[in-house]
Amino acid sequence: MPDKIAGIHHITAIATDPQRNVDFYAGVLGLRLVKRTVNFDDPGTYHFYYGDRLGRPGTILTFFPWPLARRGSRGSGQVTTTAFSVAESSIGYWQARLREHGVVAEEPGERFDELVLAFYDPDGLKLELVADGGQRGIEPWDGGSVPTEHAIHGFHGATLAVREIEASASLLTDTMGLGGAGESGRRHRFEAAGDGAGLRVDLLHTPDESYGRIAAGSVHHIAWRVDDEEAQAVWRERIVDSGLQPTPILDRQYYKSIYFREPGGALFEFATDPPGFTLDEEPDELGTHLKLPPWLEGGRERIESSLPPITEPAPTGAGS
Ligand code: ZN
Repeated sequence: MPDKIAGIHHITAIATDPQRNVDFYAGVLGLRLVKRTVNFDDPGTYHFYYGDRLGRPGTILTFFPWPLARRGSRGSGQVTTTAFSVAESSIGYWQARLREHGVVAEEPGERFDELVLAFYDPDGLKLELVADGGQRGIEPWDGGSVPTEHAIHGFHGATLAVREIEASASLLTDTMGLGGAGESGRRHRFEAAGDGAGLRVDLLHTPDESYGRIAAGSVHHIAWRVDDEEAQAVWRERIVDSGLQPTPILDRQYYKSIYFREPGGALFEFATDPPGFTLDEEPDELGTHLKLPPWLEGGRERIESSLPPITEPAPTGAGS
């Protein structure tokens, strides 16, 4: 039984307008929309998944687009930044592309000897592109309008702001099996021993920063990779033993999940790698249909009529 978490499985954030969300992530960022479904806890609203060609764990950013959601605020107890990996030579390309699309971006800066370009999605969600040379084992989506050599290679990692470091760090290392990977100022980096994308999480020590408000433009939760259902049951016991309170194992159709609050206040999820997004769509058709889990199929007509129609941006060629 593996005693180490293999890295980030997915990150879920909150948006407002669903079409604007698709236009930004599938259009401007060139990620593949690998699944369009509904929020299983609120089936009148969408749940979008973006990732690499197959939506591999470590590449998946998901959104609940709630058109009427208020804007949240960044602060402690949250994943405040989601970072993607790109090739070392790609930062200039992305600066130009983001500028062309009117995206608010900061000047690139160095962190742990890597160039980092920070920018914001249309709802104010903070994102980064990190020039780390790209990740192994990822198939960047080549059906969008970003040239393959500049395409996003899944997650580089995430930044989690916490008012106190110790308890969150202990969860990551002692319980989840990540290793310390350096410190830079108030940033403490931890790394999973896996070999895919999304291996890093930085704890940002923010003792004086108030708790953020989770709403539009903020991360709802971060999910970590678990091998399979059998391992999930073992991990759940470990989380209980560490004094935290996980939910029962829930069926999320594309993975099985538990959720709990880490000591710093952020919502963590453990999600199984299988079965994945090809469960109910062929690889070539991923994201092209509204997919519902069996227990919601009976209400399809009502659900479809309550959702605004979505069109995927057509590939428009490099630089457009
Ligand atoms: Zn999740």
